[in-house]
Amino acid sequence: MYQKNLNSPDSVNIPSLDCLDTHLMGFFNLSIMETKICFKCGIEKPLNEFYRHKQMRDGHLNKCKACTKLDTATVFNKKIKDDEFHQKEKERGREKYYRLRYKDKYKPSYIKKKEIDKRYKEKYPEKRRALSFSGKLKPVKKGNHLHHWSYNEEHYKDVIELTPIEHSTLHRFIVYDQERMMYRVAKTGILLDSKKYHIEFLKTIINK
Ligand SMILES: [Zn+2]
Ligand SMILES: [Zn+2]
Repeated sequence: MYQKNLNSPDSVNIPSLDCLDTHLMGFFNLSIMETKICFKCGIEKPLNEFYRHKQMRDGHLNKCKACTKLDTATVFNKKIKDDEFHQKEKERGREKYYRLRYKDKYKPSYIKKKEIDKRYKEKYPEKRRALSFSGKLKPVKKGNHLHHWSYNEEHYKDVIELTPIEHSTLHRFIVYDQERMMYRVAKTGILLDSKKYHIEFLKTIINK
């Protein structure tokens, strides 16, 4: 199968061409021509167009550099996209977490509301009593509020009808004096000890 190379002093065996089978021939040609067909793109390219790889029979990958780079880039881009996606998911999750926590923190729960209500009633028994009397009263205009200018027994039913806006505005300008069971002007401390004063003061803040 091998013939002696008579020119070589080391007597190295070189393959005799006539006894090489097709498989070996292919391999032999490949080494001589130093080309290889990329399994991916199917293009025959010089061996230096393939990355070196020790475990491969010819010491090179079967995929050309261009195809390898393309695949790496695809994988890399996919990874970036996935990372971006996960990052966004994380942010969305965080945002939701804070939004819900925020709501939790500032929107009193039903139980908490009941507790506040209970404490309020305990703190202001006169208000509760007044409400039990005036509760049956209905505002002339549906949706309007009935405001107590005084929580003294004789004034339980002596209420002032206000729109919700007027009512909330008024309460920003007055403070409750539990001893007198009436309101004072927050800024000056003047006691609004009659319904007339109360309404007059209300007019001054509503017209502002
Ligand atoms: Zn290729
Ligand atoms: Zn009120």
